[in-house]
Amino acid sequence: MNIWLILILFILVFSFTLEAVISYLNLKSLTPTLPEEFENIYDQTKYGHSQKYAATTIKFSLLENGFSTGITLLFLLLGGFNIVDVWARNFGYGEIITGLIFCGILIFLSVLSTLPFSIYSTFIIEEKFGFNRTTVKTFILDIIKASLLFLILGAPLLALLLWFFMSTGAYGWFYCWVGLFLFTLLMQFLAPTVIMPLFNKFSPIEDGLLKKDILSYADQENFKIQGIYTMDGSKRSSKLNAFFTGFGKFRKIVFYDTLLEKLDNYEIIAVLAHEMGHFKLRHILKMLAGNAIQTGIMFYLLSLFLENRSLAEAFQMDNISIYSSLIFFGFIYSPVSMLVSILFNALSRKHEYAADQYAAETTGKPEMLIRGLKKLAVANLSNLTPHPLHVFLHYSHPSVLMRIKKLRQFTMDVQ
Ligand SMILES: [Zn+2]
Repeated sequence: MNIWLILILFILVFSFTLEAVISYLNLKSLTPTLPEEFENIYDQTKYGHSQKYAATTIKFSLLENGFSTGITLLFLLLGGFNIVDVWARNFGYGEIITGLIFCGILIFLSVLSTLPFSIYSTFIIEEKFGFNRTTVKTFILDIIKASLLFLILGAPLLALLLWFFMSTGAYGWFYCWVGLFLFTLLMQFLAPTVIMPLFNKFSPIEDGLLKKDILSYADQENFKIQGIYTMDGSKRSSKLNAFFTGFGKFRKIVFYDTLLEKLDNYEIIAVLAHEMGHFKLRHILKMLAGNAIQTGIMFYLLSLFLENRSLAEAFQMDNISIYSSLIFFGFIYSPVSMLVSILFNALSRKHEYAADQYAAETTGKPEMLIRGLKKLAVANLSNLTPHPLHVFLHYSHPSVLMRIKKLRQFTMDVQ
């Protein structure tokens, strides 16, 4: 049996088993006792509701994972990749267009296989727990818009990467790296200006006390913002959020309308201060740099596997090509990418604590951030007691109880 095939089968089965173990541990660590911190904000019934939500989503995502692993295994072992390739080659185009057709079909099939899960999650689970505000029309329009965007942005990018590999020889990986990096920078501009407005409505917040408070806090911290916006997050879900978009003087702060509804002005300023902390402490630049390094390494490794005959045989291919190597490499790279994501998540959790501390220091009111975090957790029915292994592998943010604990520790240290 082909050594690559053995490795890939092992990776697929191992990662599913790992997820199953984590889901089990996560379910075990749900506790019916309401954590002390939340005693005055949750009642027992609502807390029970949040536990049910956590259990449902944990089981559902394991089911989805199992299904996608099974489908991938079947597709791989039945020679699905070769069938798609033969079909794509039948059109008789050159390597790049054939590659686009090949990858396009695989992406289409993969989206198609997750669609029932996404429908069930939105219209059954989120609906049952009172989050869903997505209409069928919005759901369908979202899929159409995302597909068009993918055609307009993703296809040319993929064509460019294929072209670099085909025409620049041994340095192809380097050109791809630079190309992808420039594309990422371009997206930093396109996302807030063109892409996000396709999906949501952004409107400047009204003049009033909140706007005055925000501007005076930003001024005090010497932080330039181009605008303060509210986004109709309520179009899809009742969950709350806030974020910054853009760079330098193009920075905008965006609050979900649902967040402005549920939080008072002090808490909103605390959330804003946290988000600003990410900029002031250069977290965004550090993440971008980290990402650049990891894509460089990835492209280099990928270049070593291009047109690898033995790897292509594992996928029962009649023909060897650069574009199919791209996909096959993804299979053997996935353990590395898991390790990278563990590293990035750890860094991101560290950044979250730092931004919390920044907010506590600059507003001088850590209590407000704690109150805001609690309201967010309650409104989003966040899992208050995720298993540490789950946090280690998947969480980009520490659990809310950990964040509150750190904030309290910090206030004690200051006093
Ligand atoms: Zn944050």
